[in-house]
Amino acid sequence: MTAIAFIGLGNMGGPMATNLVKAGHAVTVFDLSADALAALEAAGAQVASSAIAAVQNAEIVFSMLPADKHVLGLYFGYAGADAKGIAGFIPKGALVVDSSTISAEAARELAQGLTAAGVRCIDAPVSGGVGGAKAGTLTFICGGDNADVEEARPLLECMGKAVFTAGAHGAGQVAKICNNMLLGVLMSGTAEALKLGIDHGLNPQVLSEIMLQSSGRNWTLEVYNPCPGVMDNVPSSNDYNGGFLVDLMLKDLGLALATAEQTNSSTPMGNAAAALYQQHSEQGFGKKDFSSIFKWFEQGK
Ligand code: NAD
Repeated sequence: MTAIAFIGLGNMGGPMATNLVKAGHAVTVFDLSADALAALEAAGAQVASSAIAAVQNAEIVFSMLPADKHVLGLYFGYAGADAKGIAGFIPKGALVVDSSTISAEAARELAQGLTAAGVRCIDAPVSGGVGGAKAGTLTFICGGDNADVEEARPLLECMGKAVFTAGAHGAGQVAKICNNMLLGVLMSGTAEALKLGIDHGLNPQVLSEIMLQSSGRNWTLEVYNPCPGVMDNVPSSNDYNGGFLVDLMLKDLGLALATAEQTNSSTPMGNAAAALYQQHSEQGFGKKDFSSIFKWFEQGK
C-alpha cells in the first residue's frame, strides 16, 4: 500500500484527506491546527507530530495550503524563522502533489527546489469547492510530467471525478486561474444583467429562465444564481454563507492579473472583476460567498 502524507487539513484538505482514508488508504496527516488534526484522527488517519515526521516515510506527499508563502515555507523553510523546510526529509524519488492554488511562478520554484532534493513534483490545483472536496467530485488541473500525473491518478480519483494535465510545471496553476478569472467575470456579469432587469421591473426568476434558454446562458445561471430566492440550496438563498469566499476569489483574480503581467497579456475584464471584488471585500463581504457580488449591484450607482 502506498505510504501517503497529507499536509494542510483546512476546508479543502480536511475532506480530501478523509476521502483517501475512506478509500482504504493509510494516510499520515499534519496541520498547524489541533482541531483539524483531531477531526482527521477521528476519521481514521495517523496524526504526525510535525510536518517533517509526516513525510519521513512517505511515497507520496499531498499539500493543500492557503498561498505561495505557506507552500514555499513548508517545503523550503520560512525566511528568518527557525522552522526547517520538509524538502530535505522527503524520501528521494517520492512524489509531491501540491493542490494549493498558488502562482505559476511559485509552482515552478517548488518543482525546481524539489528536483534539486531528488523529489518529483506536480502542481494539481482543484476546482469544485468545499462541496466537491466533501463529495469527492473535484477536478484536478495538473502541471508536470505525464508519468507523475498518471502515478498520482488513482489517488486523485479517490478525491475527484476528473484529472487533467495542462502542460509542464506551473501549467496547472495557469489553467486554474484562467478558469477562475472567467468565473469572476461571469459572476459579476450575471449579477449586473439580473439587476438591470430587476430595476426595470422584471422577475429575476423569469429573467434567469429566459437567459438560461438564450445566448447569455452560463454556469452561474445553471447552478449558482447570485440573486436571492431564485434557486434553493445555493449561497444566495442562505445569506451568502458557505461556498467560495469573496477573499479567495480576490486572491485568484490577483494571481491571474500577476500572471497576465508576465506575458503582457491584456485582461480588461479580469481587471474590472478584480476591482469590483476588491471594493466588495472592503465593504465587509470578504467572508461571504463570491456570488454576493450581487449585493454590490444592489447598492446602485
Ligand atoms: P484553509 O485556510 O481552510 O486551510 C488551510 C490549512 O492549512 C489550515 O488548516 C492551516 O492550519 C494549514 N496550514 C497552513 N500553513 C501550514 C503549515 N506550514 N503546516 C501545516 N498546515 C498548515 O484553506 P482552504 O479553503 O482549504 O484552501 C486551501 C487551498 O485550496 C487554497 O490555496 C485555496 O485557494 C484553494 N481552493 C479553495 C477552495 C475553496 O472553496 N475553499 C476551492 C478551490 C481551491
